[in-house]
Amino acid sequence: MTKRILKTDRRSLRLTLSYLAIIMVLCLGFSAIFYQATTGNLDLSLNSSGQASSKGTSDKGLSLQADGAGSSSVSLSGASSDLTHLDAQLRQQVQAIREGLLRRLAVFNLGALLTGTVVSYLLARRTLQPIEAAMEAQARFSSDASHELRTPLTALRARSEVTLRNPRLTLAEAKHTIKGNIEQVQKLEQITDGLLQLGNEDHRRLARHPVSLEEVANEAMNTVVTQAQEKHIIITETAPHVKVQADRQSLVQATTILLDNAIKYSDKGSTIYLEGTTEGSYGLLYVRDEGRGIDSSDLPHIFERFYRADASRSRQGHGLGLSIAQNLIERNNGRIGVESTVGKGSVFVIKLPLA
Ligand code: ADP
Repeated sequence: MTKRILKTDRRSLRLTLSYLAIIMVLCLGFSAIFYQATTGNLDLSLNSSGQASSKGTSDKGLSLQADGAGSSSVSLSGASSDLTHLDAQLRQQVQAIREGLLRRLAVFNLGALLTGTVVSYLLARRTLQPIEAAMEAQARFSSDASHELRTPLTALRARSEVTLRNPRLTLAEAKHTIKGNIEQVQKLEQITDGLLQLGNEDHRRLARHPVSLEEVANEAMNTVVTQAQEKHIIITETAPHVKVQADRQSLVQATTILLDNAIKYSDKGSTIYLEGTTEGSYGLLYVRDEGRGIDSSDLPHIFERFYRADASRSRQGHGLGLSIAQNLIERNNGRIGVESTVGKGSVFVIKLPLA
């Protein structure tokens, strides 16, 4: 934990410094150009005034030669010293302006450094937050996946070791062990299939066409009919012949997952309702059951990968079904939602744009 915080801090520090470097390069560059442009203009005025003063002196010199009078010589040196004085004053003023400008630019850059640090830090945090969240989700996913894979593997190994150590192993006992091992291997297969599907689904493009909700409901129902019969569960299908814009196969798969859950989490002899309707420009497909329901504290999490509500944590599933269903529906530009009351049942709804 501390290691991760340190890593995060180092990352945001590095990004803050990069942003600050960009801001400061821009500010210093702007200051240099501004200083150059302003003092360049001043230098130009100074040079032209210097030329004027020296030109004025030489003009007077010419008029002195023309008149040849001593008094003229006195007024010439007076004018010349006036101009030199003026020029020196001007230079002093220009120097003062230059120093003032430098001071102001230094204050401006210091201000830019301080505000730039704050802005850079906030920007860095903003940039890193979604990246960190994605990385955290990835890490959590890997750890959950390893945990889920490890459980059946440990059971497989323990069972095999105990059987192997038994010197008076009977055929019946060996068969029992092998049967148990096959069950664990099946679990592993289900988990890896789910993981593979989640991995592929993020990338595979879906071709969407008009699909009838009624046909989707029928196809999904046919897939789970044997499971339903085993538990004496009746599925009542009344979905309308409303067409939505979706990839047929993925919509059937998502509906099958919801039906499969409804069967898994309902008691023997109950009824599951597959219904549909339209709402504005959307088609809705409901899967309603009379099962155990979902606690309100679990509801916000059931679409997360590997999440299983506590009551069913025992051996019913791996917590991947609903995240696969949600992924499929969202890739069809749809939404999936749920309402549930503990002890009364749940209703899952798939909402898709009408064709
Ligand atoms: P799982 O393979 O465990 O069923 P899901 O992702 O399909 O995984 O479901 C996540 C959890 O949501 C389940 O473990 C279960 O607790 C709860 N759940 C899903 N559907 C229902 C339902 N129809 N009735 C009651 N609980 C449900």
